[in-house]
Amino acid sequence: MDANRLLQPLNEPQREAVSQPDIPVLVLAGAGSGKTRVLVHRIAWRIAVDGKRPDQVLAVTFTNKAAREMRGRVFRLAGLEARTMWLGTFHSIGYRILARHAAEAGLPRDFTILDDEDQRRLVRQLIQDRGWDERNHAPTLVQWYINQQKDAGLRAGQGSETGGESDETLRTLYADYEKKLRTLGAADFPELLFGCLDLWQAHPGIRDQYRERFTEILIDEFQDTNPLQYLWFRALAGPGARPFVVGDDDQAIYGWRGARIEHILAFSRDFPKTHTIRLEQNYRSSRSILEAANALIAHNPSRLGKTLWTEGEEGRRPVLFHADHEQEEADYIVSEIERLLAAGQAPTTLAVLYRSNSQSRVIEEVLVRHRIPYRVYGGVRFLERVEIKDVLAYLRLLVNPDHASALERALHAPPRGIGDKTLERARQTAQHESLSLTAALNRLAQDGSPPRIRTALSQWSALLSRMREAMIGQDLPQQVERVIELSGLPEFYRQDDPLRAVSRLESLGELINAAATFEPEELPGDESPFPRLAAFLAQMTLATDLESAETQPAEVQLMSLHAAKGLEFHTVFIAGLEEGLLPHIRSLDAPGGLEEERRLFYVGMTRAQQRLFLTLARQRRLRGRLYQSLPSRFLREIPENQMEILNPAVQTLRPSARFPAPRGIPRHQIPEAGGPVSIGRRVRHPSFGEGVILDQEGSGAQCRVQVRFDRAGSKWLVWSMARLENLDS
Ligand code: ATP
Ligand code: MG
Repeated sequence: MDANRLLQPLNEPQREAVSQPDIPVLVLAGAGSGKTRVLVHRIAWRIAVDGKRPDQVLAVTFTNKAAREMRGRVFRLAGLEARTMWLGTFHSIGYRILARHAAEAGLPRDFTILDDEDQRRLVRQLIQDRGWDERNHAPTLVQWYINQQKDAGLRAGQGSETGGESDETLRTLYADYEKKLRTLGAADFPELLFGCLDLWQAHPGIRDQYRERFTEILIDEFQDTNPLQYLWFRALAGPGARPFVVGDDDQAIYGWRGARIEHILAFSRDFPKTHTIRLEQNYRSSRSILEAANALIAHNPSRLGKTLWTEGEEGRRPVLFHADHEQEEADYIVSEIERLLAAGQAPTTLAVLYRSNSQSRVIEEVLVRHRIPYRVYGGVRFLERVEIKDVLAYLRLLVNPDHASALERALHAPPRGIGDKTLERARQTAQHESLSLTAALNRLAQDGSPPRIRTALSQWSALLSRMREAMIGQDLPQQVERVIELSGLPEFYRQDDPLRAVSRLESLGELINAAATFEPEELPGDESPFPRLAAFLAQMTLATDLESAETQPAEVQLMSLHAAKGLEFHTVFIAGLEEGLLPHIRSLDAPGGLEEERRLFYVGMTRAQQRLFLTLARQRRLRGRLYQSLPSRFLREIPENQMEILNPAVQTLRPSARFPAPRGIPRHQIPEAGGPVSIGRRVRHPSFGEGVILDQEGSGAQCRVQVRFDRAGSKWLVWSMARLENLDS
């Protein structure tokens, strides 16, 4: 292998990093300085030049998508098919290990991974089992507590004992929860790492196999590792290891989830002979953009300190646009997007970033109106769409008849005349007689239940058997397709909400496509009735925000600032640069919160290659209410002459200038008093029935209303098409 070919596209310090001998390496370097590039070249170098085997490589990336791209790049660089490398997120690698040693880890072979919602349901169930009131013990708080303990590497009973009453209940529920996970044979996300730690402790032989195998451990975005991930990494790396990690303290944005920048410092301590390399040349952004970003981040007090420079062109200065209201902000962003598209810019190279997912809706509406295809990452992501969750519930149930939350969901989609009471009885039967929930339901179908319920139950069990039969001997995509057909969901969606049915059926199509292109990394053993399906479901649960079944090639990208980490785009818009949004209101009380918000803004700015637009609005509707907002304090930290300030109103950014008295609220945002669209008014819809108007926006043909229907839940409808009948007059 020609070592030159690997080093040639790199600068001097990058080459130094890539070609280090067998010692621990820490690359501490700023945004866009080539950390990820160096990591990829290092893998190729170790294989092609130092003669390591691909199966000795384990690299942790921030998303599974990044892992796939990395595999392709290593292949192109090192010229060999490297399927045996382990590349993935902490979670997906943890899953792989646990799936291989399920028996030793005390888990069933095809153990279920609980996602966020499954976890919340389970917590709710535990609160009920204790006979406690959810109003005093919010399931989300309990869930947050459990995850936070686990991410800190603490089992139930190991937490700090502060002695408060609520701490006591949280600890009790955490202990209940751990017990329950064990009986269910399930794992939540942190458990995928925690389970490995326990496994390795109980079976040091297994741990040593991995230590011997993975001589090459590499981690990207190291600044965002949390204590559990660090413990896992330390256990895997072992005393003689020589890991290669890259990170940037200025881009640490997961402190709120327990990630600790200090791990960067701990690394050099834990691996004594560490060679630290700094990269300071930025290859991503134009000079104007980089200088503005440098000016901003210089305001953070505690930094490991580095300044980025570029040989690149000066380029256009970042543009600052101050809109009257969020609608105008969205109009501005979309008009710029249109101009760029007309000038031949590819849609995927344009990104709109925001602090809070709820900001995307207004922008989406304008994009729709202008017929610009776009894709939203995060928010309601693919896997959280109702229809996908419905089908996945059936599939999970078919793999694991004991999957309680899957069963609950599938039983109601579509409703099958089996209510909560019956389910509760089944749960009790299951517990007393050690049966699976599905088996307990079958039992109820035969015993003294009322005939109506018995019929419903036997139909249900017949349906599951039909599904199982239909799946035998089929390929994965056909299995998914057959289950969708037999479930009756397509018909149900068409009747439930004809307007949305089309997009729902499209997502189901995407799910089948995903099954068709699925390539398992690890298959559960032969005992599993449908091993490929089990592996597919695990992968679907592990997919991160940035990936879904399919990536459309021609879409403008919308995502949160958090989700944009590691990516780059020709043009970046950062919307909502206002106090309360960025910095986010919740961050202000947390210690170090403000600095983390500044880093988040810095991450956003440094995604941009050529053009950067910063926008804000004087008025914004949040959770249905209209707020006046002040410009973000961060805007003041970028010198005025480093931006192109489009409208003079932005003088208000200077601390000395007074914030101008707000002008009238734009007319189209206020519901006309007494008019047909009036918040609080009762209306009737031909298919959804009666409900109350909760919110309204837009005007004329664009006017949409949000109605909370008594039976059908809350929906946004286009006013001119919804044929709502006014019940109040
Ligand atoms: P981030 O901190 O945002 O994750 P990073 O440090 O990982 O950034 P990369 O994504 O690896 O940076 O590189 C940024 C861009 O610069 C990429 O487009 C990469 O291909 C390019 N690049 C990096 N090093 C060089 C180089 N020596 N010559 C030319 N281009 C380079
Ligand atoms: Mg990177």
